[in-house]
Amino acid sequence: MRNYVVCLPLVALIGCEATLPIAEVPTAVPPVVTEAAMPESNSSAKKLFEKIEKTEEEWKKHLSEHEYHVLREKGTERAYTGEYDKHFEHGAYACAGCGLVLFESETKFDSRCGWPAFYAAKAGDRVVETADHSFGMVRVEVTCARCGGHLGHVFDDAPGQPTGQRFCINSVSLDFIPKAKLKAEQLEVDAPPKPAEPAPPKGEE
Ligand SMILES: [Zn+2]
Repeated sequence: MRNYVVCLPLVALIGCEATLPIAEVPTAVPPVVTEAAMPESNSSAKKLFEKIEKTEEEWKKHLSEHEYHVLREKGTERAYTGEYDKHFEHGAYACAGCGLVLFESETKFDSRCGWPAFYAAKAGDRVVETADHSFGMVRVEVTCARCGGHLGHVFDDAPGQPTGQRFCINSVSLDFIPKAKLKAEQLEVDAPPKPAEPAPPKGEE
């Protein structure tokens, strides 16, 4: 009976390598190494930010009624009513739910659609794009990668912009931070994009 008890874990460990001769089993799979390596490899993957999760009750305490409706219930503010629709100061736009900087004034443009428009989100996988089939339309929803708050939608209908994209974002989902008030860590994380390399002026022909 004892032999059976001892052997069972070994059989489980080599279940996927059943062709190994039984004599090699004890040295073939050292389980200690395998288990120790897993947490180490997970922790080495550095993330820009940690996700924020709150209960709906906590969000209701943290947000205004309008913010809660748009950010947590995927609402939409009325066109041409948002605080940042015609706002073009220099600075950054952070998520109104969690404060993560999501957009910059450099990528904001006047789309005349009634909501703030950006041709790109800030680098660093700060927003998540998800297919949205609500209201009988096929759209791409944009949410904050840190808190999951609903921001708006992104459309490929801005051919005059560098990316051709229009991130149509609710003002109420954003908080504007003037450039001078951006914190040191935000500036560090939010380094400006590298300038495009100018075309070499050399004329070979
Ligand atoms: Zn957020």
